[in-house]
Amino acid sequence: MAESVGWDVDDRVASWRGLPSLDRDLAADACVVGLGGSGLAAVDELLRRGLSVVGLDAGRVAAAAAGRNGGFLVAGPWESMYEASSAWGEHVAVDLFSATLRELDHLEDVLGPGVVRRPGSIRLAGLPGPAETEAESAQRAAELKLCRLEAEVLRRLGIAAEIYDGPLGQGLFQPRDGAVNPAVRAVTLAGSLADRAALYEGTPVLKLSPGRVEAVGGTVQAGVVVVAVDGRLDVILPQLAGMTRTARLQMLATAPAAPGRLPCPVYGRYGYDYAQQTPDGRLFVGGGRDRFTAQEWTTDSVPTDPVQRYLDRLAVRFAGTPVTVEHRWAAPVGFTTDGRALCIAVDDGIVAVGGYSGTGNLVGPVAARAAVALLVDGTPPPAYFRSTF
Ligand SMILES: Cc1cc2nc3c(=O)[nH]c(=O)nc-3n(C[C@H](O)[C@H](O)[C@H](O)COP(=O)(O)OP(=O)(O)OC[C@H]3O[C@@H](n4cnc5c(N)ncnc54)[C@H](O)[C@@H]3O)c2cc1C
Repeated sequence: MAESVGWDVDDRVASWRGLPSLDRDLAADACVVGLGGSGLAAVDELLRRGLSVVGLDAGRVAAAAAGRNGGFLVAGPWESMYEASSAWGEHVAVDLFSATLRELDHLEDVLGPGVVRRPGSIRLAGLPGPAETEAESAQRAAELKLCRLEAEVLRRLGIAAEIYDGPLGQGLFQPRDGAVNPAVRAVTLAGSLADRAALYEGTPVLKLSPGRVEAVGGTVQAGVVVVAVDGRLDVILPQLAGMTRTARLQMLATAPAAPGRLPCPVYGRYGYDYAQQTPDGRLFVGGGRDRFTAQEWTTDSVPTDPVQRYLDRLAVRFAGTPVTVEHRWAAPVGFTTDGRALCIAVDDGIVAVGGYSGTGNLVGPVAARAAVALLVDGTPPPAYFRSTF
């Protein structure tokens, strides 16, 4: 199946001037491996501390999930605050929620409303439109109870939340969440950092050892190294294989359809299915991970027919009308065993971050900043990250 990424047709991505590939050995205070949303936050954080930085990406910036995701900027952990509070303790869950919200505010400040929109998000019970079977109807009713429970928990914790009851169905509305074209986010951030850091594209890293990053084209000597790779982290650092596992997530994008149908990013069916509609009416739709679990535990990033046929049906549910699909793609992400993302020292002066279980747009930068704080200041990572073997 031919692959093309719907986000990349945006002029700001299509006209990305690109960065050079590494063609010599370099030395710097710090090296960042992987220039997705997380790696770029690490670069920013290192520069803020006055360090010299080299950043390396195997492909274009955000060549993996960071430039190919649903573009949801949803504060909090991947699971509900109700579940996270039960599993980790309430104050730990609230700390993570606050950190991701700060990251979202920061992104909005830095990138502006032309890149980061703040329309809120809807967590729907089930999918938009009438239930197609009795089983779907029953699942929807059960999920609605959880949405109401989550609304109570959020309000008790002082987090803005409203019950949603509208044309798409019923669920939970969180007014502070945001949306982005993730590829625009990445190239804009990389463009703004490239004057102050030595950033390279098309430069796969082959080997990591204390103080030394060996890549195609050259070796970087650096006292501190942040590895900011979400999917395939277990490939680049096999010692993390028992802690994070790579899965493929797939998406499609449609031609403009029913503009205004989705007022904000909408995720339903326990968050497994999701869609964002851009102001020009295009739908960006993903999901089905729970329905294709076995096949999607893979480091391969090519979209597949069974998942894409499911997404075709999903796109119609979200659009409420027939749609024309223009782009199909996939990307790797890391899932951890206990739902906590990793911020973990893997060797002297080397910290790895990743394993965001499909929701790293905000948690990833939070983890990257925590990695820099650990490496440079010796600050232990917050309890919502897994930081020990
Ligand atoms: C289809 C899909 C939908 C998603 N939807 C959402 C969403 O709506 N909201 C949300 O919060 N999250 C979402 N996610 C998850 C989110 O995209 C990721 O968690 C997040 O983007 C991870 O960013 P990152 O910068 O940590 O890592 P990555 O995106 O994995 O970036 C790592 C970078 O490292 C580079 N790299 C890899 N190996 C090497 C190497 N050996 N040498 C040098 N460079 C290397 C890659 O090219 C890449 O650019 C989704 C993911 C997918 C796939």
